Amino acid sequence: MKRVFSGIQPTGHLTLGNYLGAMRRWAEVDQHRADALFCVVDLHALTVEHDPARVRRLSRQAATLLLASGLDPEACTLFVQSHVDEHARLSYLLECVATDGEMRRMIQYKEKAAKEAARGRSVRVSLLTYPVLMAADILAYGTDEVPVGEDQAQHVELARDLAVRFNQRYGSTFTVPRATFPKVAARVMNLQEPTSKMGKSDESGLGVVYLLDETDVVRKKVLRAVTDSGRDVVYDRVERPGVANLLDVLAACTGGDPEVLSGEYDSYGALKKDTAEAVVEVLRPVQERHRELVADPGAVDEVLRAGAERARAMARPTVDAAYRAIGLLPAL
Ligand code: ATP
Ligand code: MG
Repeated sequence: MKRVFSGIQPTGHLTLGNYLGAMRRWAEVDQHRADALFCVVDLHALTVEHDPARVRRLSRQAATLLLASGLDPEACTLFVQSHVDEHARLSYLLECVATDGEMRRMIQYKEKAAKEAARGRSVRVSLLTYPVLMAADILAYGTDEVPVGEDQAQHVELARDLAVRFNQRYGSTFTVPRATFPKVAARVMNLQEPTSKMGKSDESGLGVVYLLDETDVVRKKVLRAVTDSGRDVVYDRVERPGVANLLDVLAACTGGDPEVLSGEYDSYGALKKDTAEAVVEVLRPVQERHRELVADPGAVDEVLRAGAERARAMARPTVDAAYRAIGLLPAL
């Protein structure tokens, strides 16, 4: 059976982009067809200025929302990254095969470093090395496939490169993983700024739909989405990014095809209205299950405890093998 791994950072409230780009597929497809692990990657949330209490709160909320979106602890392993020491242990070894140049070329590093600087904050070393820790997350589990949104393509590519390089230098140790992307909505854009990705740690405003937004807030955000000049509804991600984004979201929520859907509308207003309703319908069951789960935090804790135990047992042999291969004296 294939091994699948993916993660989500507790850097903010989870968004429609996270759901359509990643979480929904984990629940509907990946956990049933593979030996799958899903992780709240809390160490990654420390790479930008953070409030400790908020990160703790968001970690629990992310785990709860993952369960609400349909992850079944009987079908997959759900855990918190910092509960499994192997991630940090392996990350250091991979820092010893990754290069400074590789890190500085990462698009996300450049974007997030610029944002931190614009907010008058210094850039943490961990923001630069983040992709190495992410490679460790993936490689520790002998992962074959990493289901992610399009924005993570470059990071998964780096994980592949590091696996190949380590194997060549120190002997075959890691499975070489590959990324998988959803067919539609692999990159949901900010509704107010349709040339930028919708991100949970962005200044939110009206551009970001959160999974826990009230129904009327969701409607308002979609109805006020920025559209393009012109009136006809065509699917063109470059020339008409605003309309294309709405078509992508509508297609992802209804199981349709954005190109085909574009032929069914002759006004932006009707497109927005249907998209708003489609998003509301997709979020409704997730919000309902979330309400039930928050009433029973002990159950979520137990899932995370058992998940960490299973994950630890899976990661340890690979990480121990990497320690031996790279030249470290085994502890007695
Ligand atoms: P941050 O702004 O803190 O980076 P994020 O919203 O990008 O948060 P991540 O935790 O970095 O979320 O990513 C979790 C998963 O969600 C990844 O698989 C990522 O590719 C996917 N994802 C994030 N944003 C989008 C988006 N706008 N469209 C599609 N997928 C997305
Ligand atoms: Mg991100």
